[in-house]
Amino acid sequence: MIPLLLSLGACSEAPAPAPLPPPQPGRPGPAVAPGAGGNLLSFGEIDLDRAAPATTPMVSNATCAGCDVVLLTLCSVRRDALGAYGNTDAHTPVLDGLAARGLRFDAAYAASNFTLPSLSSIFTGQFPSTTGVMNWDRGIGKTVPLLPEVLGFYGYATGAFTVDAPSGFRPEFGLDRGFQRMRVSTPRRGTPDGRRTKAPADTGATSAELAAEWVAGVPRDRPIFLSFHDRDAHYPYVVDPPAADPTGLLTALWEEGADAGGHGHMIAVDPVAEAYKHAGARANAVWRAAYQGAVDRMDQRLGTLLAAIDARGRRERTLLIVVGDHGESLWEHDEELHGVAYYDGVARVPMLVVGPGVRTGTTDALASHVDLFPTIAELVGAAAPAGVDGVSLVPLFTGALPSVRSTTLVEGGVMADRPELLRGALIAPPWTLLVQPPAAALKGGPPAPGLRPGQMVESLYDLVVDPGQTDDLATARPEVVRQLRERWEGFRLARAGRAVPTELRHDPAFVELLRRTGYDFNATSPPNPTP
Ligand SMILES: [Zn+2]
Repeated sequence: MIPLLLSLGACSEAPAPAPLPPPQPGRPGPAVAPGAGGNLLSFGEIDLDRAAPATTPMVSNATCAGCDVVLLTLCSVRRDALGAYGNTDAHTPVLDGLAARGLRFDAAYAASNFTLPSLSSIFTGQFPSTTGVMNWDRGIGKTVPLLPEVLGFYGYATGAFTVDAPSGFRPEFGLDRGFQRMRVSTPRRGTPDGRRTKAPADTGATSAELAAEWVAGVPRDRPIFLSFHDRDAHYPYVVDPPAADPTGLLTALWEEGADAGGHGHMIAVDPVAEAYKHAGARANAVWRAAYQGAVDRMDQRLGTLLAAIDARGRRERTLLIVVGDHGESLWEHDEELHGVAYYDGVARVPMLVVGPGVRTGTTDALASHVDLFPTIAELVGAAAPAGVDGVSLVPLFTGALPSVRSTTLVEGGVMADRPELLRGALIAPPWTLLVQPPAAALKGGPPAPGLRPGQMVESLYDLVVDPGQTDDLATARPEVVRQLRERWEGFRLARAGRAVPTELRHDPAFVELLRRTGYDFNATSPPNPTP
């Protein structure tokens, strides 16, 4: 593993200690004690165990007062990768079973196209342009209330579990606040979320096992808030050693997963992308099968965790929320993976909700990550903070309303950018407006004629008649584009100055690692990036 080095600007008065030496390949980085290590922080394992805060009595008439709350965020999982969303080749019985017990959302949208801003929005109820967490250089502001923090005040035992990976679900970005227990662990070799060795993957479940152990240890008369962030489906997809591989693609994935420490390439030219380009007509089917295999393994591990939750004997008093933090592009629109563009394959995510007061069935109502905080707060009887961008989804759970919002936003991206610029997606059914790099840039080629390097372009799609987003109507419907832009700019204007994120000053080694793993961190937009 290569250490990711960060400097916290908020602590910049302290002299910077010497950079930590890189750990041996395949071994965990040094553990970090937030606030105790000066201003130079390293990625690595996290093992936090904090006292619970003083508590407030729950509101007794809430639908689910005192319920356990389980939030499973699934990294890089597409809607159509699950059987519950109609994929007949998927083997996802655990999630399909949850879908049968609760409400399946067909128009849930992520708040961003990569993990850090999406999780920041889930935990704050605010869009990325409101939190200011749009990229790798900002963390959650210290005064913004977080969901686990609020639930902790109401007597919840709060725990967060994930694997050590550049996901942003870490104290450096402020996402530990409110968690009494937090484990960011290095997956055991040979497990689906941490191969890093040339041994066949097994079905072990390192991070899920740690979460399950914590769940089992909390007294049953104390409600839990569990946040489990699963990375099984994140590139490079775990594959077994290929016995026969005429495309060469599985071999490339195998080598990548064994040697890259799970970081992967995102948008830079890399060996796997090159193998894909040379794999011929079968490339996409092989790629999709490898991705689906990773999703299927994820489903197995979630079964382990859900069994531990069921063992608390509180199924009738448990609110379960499963949501993708973003999807994954499988080379549609020439985009690889996620983090650059905002097409539906990345922006529109699976979401399942199961629990007391939640009807079974499906809904096509628009929903967003930012809605989860006010929704959970209402169900358990906690006070939601004022000024969140989210709205409660409870009327959809009861059937009282057919919809609760008309518009949502997908913002932020792995490229550095000027935050005042529009970049992302605005979804207002039937329309979706995308502001993103041109298709030529997604292919890794030079910009199209007439465009400057880094210039964004607008495209407009009617999701009802064109769910595959292949017919760009931006030129034909300029009045719709203008109206949607004005709505977006108005939202930004109304929240101008609210974001006070924590500024992160990156060590050059961190920037270099992002470059080497494909996050084109230093790429910036020109002064006038949109036509
Ligand atoms: Zn993610």
